[in-house]
Amino acid sequence: MIPADDRPYRNLQKHLNRQPIGFPPSRTGADIRLLKHIFSPDEARLAACLSHIPETLDIIYSREIDFLCSCCGCCCSMLSLQKELPLPLDFWDANFQAVLDTETCVGCGTCVKKCPTNAMTLKTVDEKRSKAVINRHRCIGCGHCVTSCPVNAVTLMPRKHQVQPPKNRDELNTILLKEKQHMLAPVKVIGKLAKGIAVTRDLRLLQNSE
Ligand code: SF4
Ligand code: SF4
Repeated sequence: MIPADDRPYRNLQKHLNRQPIGFPPSRTGADIRLLKHIFSPDEARLAACLSHIPETLDIIYSREIDFLCSCCGCCCSMLSLQKELPLPLDFWDANFQAVLDTETCVGCGTCVKKCPTNAMTLKTVDEKRSKAVINRHRCIGCGHCVTSCPVNAVTLMPRKHQVQPPKNRDELNTILLKEKQHMLAPVKVIGKLAKGIAVTRDLRLLQNSE
């Protein structure tokens, strides 16, 4: 396994090796030592985005993005799993949540189909009308309902509790590793699931009594 400190340098070595002159890996680790001598970790990350061809800043910058999550629940196994969880938000960090303008909502149901976590449902108002309802415990703030609503009845609002995302992939990996190594990690997951089942049951009782 590559040590986390070496990762930007290994990526740079692979990148240089794909260039016309090449920079093959060395069995003794001299390639990484040499790159460490020349580049700081940030410089190594940046250098791995450059090539031998003159390019615009836009093109170079676009390579910095590993992936862009669009929260499309149709194909993502992570999101499919969230649909089955009682309280998906306990397993995600979300800084935004969807807020509905009930006066504007015409009950077309588009948001219900688009929502990747089943946070949106339709509630019958009378014989002819329905309105969307948002379960804030399930909303991960992806914004699909906002962009798909034909009458702009949904907006995204910041949540009270804001989470600072990791600065980069290395910081994210360090956080994940710490959480995995924590002795109480499985207990925490079971606790979250139990809480989710209890809250879902209470919400159902509340909805049935309305
Ligand atoms: S922002 Fe909208 S589509 Fe996304 S999870 Fe929340 S309610 Fe569902
Ligand atoms: S898409 Fe908009 S109008 Fe249609 S049910 Fe959802 S919030 Fe209401």
